[in-house]
Formats: sequence, structure tokens, C-alpha cells
Amino acid sequence: MALIVQKYGGTSVKDSERIKAVAQRIIKTKEKGNQMVVVVSAPAGMTDDLIRLAHEICDTPPAREMDMLLATGEQRSIALLAMALCAQGHSAISFTGPQAGILTTKTHTKARILNIDPDRIKTELEKGNIVIVAGFQGATEDDAITTLDRGGSDTSAVAIAAGIKADVCEIYTDVDGVYTADPRIVKNPKKLDTISHDEMLEMASSGAKVLHSRAVEFAKKYDVPLYVLSSFNENPGTLVTKEVESMEDVVIRGVTHDKNQAKITIFGVPDKPGTAFKIFNKIGEAEINVDMIVQSIGKDDKATISFTVSKTDLRQALEIVKEVGKELGSSEVLADEKVAKVSIVGVGMRSHSGVAARMFQSLARENINIQMISTSEIKLSCIIDENDVERAVQAIHDEFNLSE
Ligand code: ASP
Ligand code: MG
Repeated sequence: MALIVQKYGGTSVKDSERIKAVAQRIIKTKEKGNQMVVVVSAPAGMTDDLIRLAHEICDTPPAREMDMLLATGEQRSIALLAMALCAQGHSAISFTGPQAGILTTKTHTKARILNIDPDRIKTELEKGNIVIVAGFQGATEDDAITTLDRGGSDTSAVAIAAGIKADVCEIYTDVDGVYTADPRIVKNPKKLDTISHDEMLEMASSGAKVLHSRAVEFAKKYDVPLYVLSSFNENPGTLVTKEVESMEDVVIRGVTHDKNQAKITIFGVPDKPGTAFKIFNKIGEAEINVDMIVQSIGKDDKATISFTVSKTDLRQALEIVKEVGKELGSSEVLADEKVAKVSIVGVGMRSHSGVAARMFQSLARENINIQMISTSEIKLSCIIDENDVERAVQAIHDEFNLSE
């Protein structure tokens, strides 16, 4: 007998047919003698709809009320799924995040899980119940309902798995695992059997949307075996796991892309200590995340700095940079929204040489210009024109023979 946490995403619970199908899957696993905790998302599109609705009522909804509203999406799913299980003759009980003992920080709409009190879930499991928990939500010490970052149900599932010491956490989604590249844009992607936590984190931060990053961090920290599988078929999924030596044999694990990128360039700023601090301090204060930064070699005591932010933050970042630019005597500030990032990820980059050259060569062959480059130990990213991104991903995928 194993203790299993399963998580079903929005497309898996989007209507009554899908909910009944999910219930059948759960029962199949339960009938093998396992104890089951199931975490669910709101039906696909519902969180977006609720946000839209809130903005029809007021421009800046109070964050506390926003969380009160958003938590209802998941609440609907847990009740319906518990009903579906009961209708098929199985005893199930649903819990909201707070009822399941999920304690979070106080940052509404972006709360972080602090602790899980496993008692209530454990008691119900011992009674033989299937426990259904609302993902994406928890409560603060003073009982205010909070939600996690968007896509946070994955994190709820892994945190609960860690909290109740489950044997495994299975994330069911609409793709049957993690692929070498986005199957929607590459002709012959391959599903990965395993991927290391660090590779998965780099893939997630560079555009692969299969798993929420915090979920992977939890899995790594608490050593929870984590699988990504499809709720639409029985294919074996991808195991996200501890790095083992043989993983380095493969040059790169995958290619990712991110179109949600924008570039800001500030020309003619003083080439002296404190300049970068002045610019990025203001941006940090506005809680805008900066991804890549490039500074050109100074000439005539002036330098040019380019950096990228997400498209959604561009307007605000641009305003800030224009302000600081005036103070710094900059000659010009430019923004480019038509950029995208392509990245290669893999622990094999540590032990294979010439990896960067191969990536650059495949872009050169396609006549694609590289605007910015950044590297980490296991990732290499390039900023290119947004219109070139599909060709770039395919070319790099071919260069590294990722279909084989
Ligand atoms: N329903 C939430 C969202 O759409 C959380 C999730 O689905 O993971 O972001
Ligand atoms: Mg998701």
C-alpha cells in the first residue's frame, strides 16, 4: 500500500464528463489498495474569468477580496469531484486549502506556503476516505484566505505530499510529460523519461509551462518523487528526480522558448560606479523582475545598458527607466517588444565542450541574429527576434539530435 498524492489541472476538471473520468482514474488507483489525496485546480479558464469579472467591478480590487474570489474556482472543483466519487460508490471528503491545514504568508495573490498541518488529512485517510483538496489556496495565521501565484496548484500538491510524507506525487495535465521542446512548435519532440530538479527549474524559468517552479523547489527540498503525466491517456510520464551521474552523458536535455520578453536599452549613461545600481534599484523597488542584462564596453565615459523584462512589465519598467535616464543624463531610451528568448538546458553542458558554438551555429545557419546572450552552469539563452523563434527552436532541436 502506498500513499499517493495526485493533482489534476484545469483541463482535467473542466466539465462533468472530465470530472467523472478523473473520478474513475482515482478509483482505479485506490482499488489497488493505495491511500489517496487528490489536489485539483479550478476548471480551465475560470481563474481568468474571475479576474476579468473583478476588474469589471473595480480597477484595483482589494487583494484580500481578490483571494476570496479566486479561491472559489478550486472550491467548485473539489465539491464536484467528491460528488463524482460518491456517485461511483466511494467515500470522499473535500477540503479547502485552509481546512487541509495549509498555512501561508500574508502576501495576497502571491502567498507562499509556510507549513502544512497534516492531521486532518491523515485522520480522513485512516477512515478510508479519499481526500480531495483545493489547490492554489491556503490561509494566513489570522485566517485570511490567500492564493498562491498563478499555476500554484502544482505547488499545493507537492507541498501536501511533503507534509503528509507521501510516497509519490503525480501531476496530471494535458501533456503526457516533459518534452525536449514544445510539441506545438517542433515537428518531432521526444518525451523525457527523467529530468533533474535543476534542469526542470531552468526549463520552467525559461518558458516551459509544464510545472510551477515552486513545486519543483519543494520536490527537491523534501525529496518527493514527482511525476508529470497525462490525464487523457495511460502513457508513462516524466519523472523529476535527483541528479545522477549518467544524466551528464546527454549534451542537452531540451530547448525552451519564451515569447513573453521585452528589451529596454538605455544609451549614453555615465560609465562609473553606481549607474547600474541607480537603474536596477528603482526597478527592483517596483517588484519588476529583470532577466538578462548586458552592458557594452564604455566609450568616452559613456555606456549602454540593455536588459529584458516580461512583456507585461514593459510599460512600467519603461517609465522608470526614462525617469532615471533623465537623472543620469542618458541620450536615449528604447524599448523593443518584438523579442523572444530561446534557451538550451542540460546538466551535460558542464562536461561537454563546444555546446554554445553549436547553438550559435544553428542560429547562424538560419540567418537569425542574436541580440543578447546569457549563460548559467546548465543553461544558455539568446534573445532573438520574436518572428524567428519557431525556426530557432527547430534548428537547435535538430542540431542536438533531440528527436533520437
Ligand atoms: N487556478 C489557478 C490558476 O489558474 C491555479 C492553478 O490552476 O494551478 O492559476
Ligand atoms: Mg498548471
